[in-house]
Parts: sequence; C-alpha cells; structure tokens
Amino acid sequence: PTSIRLPELALVALVGASSAGKSTFAARHFLPTEVLSSDFFRALVSEDENSLDATGDAFDSLFYVAGKRLARGRLTLIDATSVRPDDRRRLVDLARQYDVLPVAVVLDLPRPVLEARHAARDDRDFRPEVIGRQMGELRRTLRGMQKEGFRHVWVLRSQEEVDGAQVTRVP
Ligand code: ATP
Ligand code: MG
Repeated sequence: PTSIRLPELALVALVGASSAGKSTFAARHFLPTEVLSSDFFRALVSEDENSLDATGDAFDSLFYVAGKRLARGRLTLIDATSVRPDDRRRLVDLARQYDVLPVAVVLDLPRPVLEARHAARDDRDFRPEVIGRQMGELRRTLRGMQKEGFRHVWVLRSQEEVDGAQVTRVP
C-alpha cells in the first residue's frame, strides 16, 4: 500500500478530476477543519456549491483562510480539482509565502470509474465530458508536477490504491 508520510506542517494539494474521490479521501484522513474545499467556499459566498461565477470570490476566501491557518502552523488541505499547472502554482506560492512544505496527493483513477460515479451523483449536474477534459489536463501535466515545487507527489491510480493508502504525519 502507498504510504503517505506528511510533514506535520504542510500545505496538501489534493488533485483530481471531479468524482475522483477527493472529498471522500479528505474526510477519511483529515479533520474537517483541516480541509478547505472550493465547493464549500462557493457555497459560503453564493449558497450554491456549483456556481461557477462564484469561483473567484470562493478562491479569494479560501486562500485568505488558508493563509491564516498556515501562519498559525496548522496543516491545511486544499480540496479543489487543481488539474491545471496554474492552479497548482498558486498553491505552491502560498506554501512558500508561509514557509511550509507543499505536497500533493493525486487521484488519477480510470475514466470509466469517474464517469460511473458522476452518473450516480445528484449533486453534480454538468456533462460527463467535463471530467474527460479535467483528466486530460491532469495527465498532460502530471509528469512535471514535482518540478512545480511540490516536495512530494503521491499518485493513486485505482480505487484499491486509494482505499489502501495510509496517511501518517511525521515531525
Ligand atoms: P468533486 O470534485 O466533484 O467535488 P470529488 O473528487 O470530491 O468530486 P467525491 O465527492 O469524494 O469526489 O466522490 C464522488 C463519488 O464517488 C461519491 O459518490 C463517493 O461516494 C464515490 N467515491 C469516492 N471515493 C470512493 C472510494 N474510494 N470508493 C468508492 N466510492 C467512492
Ligand atoms: Mg469534492
């Protein structure tokens, strides 16, 4: 099984297309207060976790809270797709600003798995092609992720790997 050994003070980027299982993974391995989810912040500013026009305000708020947490020495996980290098660069920059280690956990599961999950959800109404596009962006850029500045990049490629992963914290 994959052993994810997190620095006690880290900015954790959880990376993956919609329905990859980010929020499920976050809830299993982290405190609710450690998890800053883009959906939650969209809802916080707009009442609607799916409202795309709230994205800017949602991320402004998310980054503000993340900065306060990191300044206080609290491990923080960002639950957003982060499939584009530009999105991840902002996370690396934020970590550097507060002198904490940026690390990434990537959920790169097979497309049929994600599409089946998406079809079964009633909280996501967009077309399944969106998932294909997000997966494409991730896979084109995955190899270069370490060079983006992440200290560690763990990649989980199946539901079995995700379910078997062990998350520990090291001083
Ligand atoms: P989004 O980006 O849209 O928020 P997400 O990556 O947070 O998606 P989740 O909400 O965690 O994805 O999971 C999507 C669906 O897949 C959920 O219905 C969840 O029950 C299911 N799921 C997630 N992880 C697993 C898993 N390890 N095994 C089985 N089902 C899972
Ligand atoms: Mg989610």
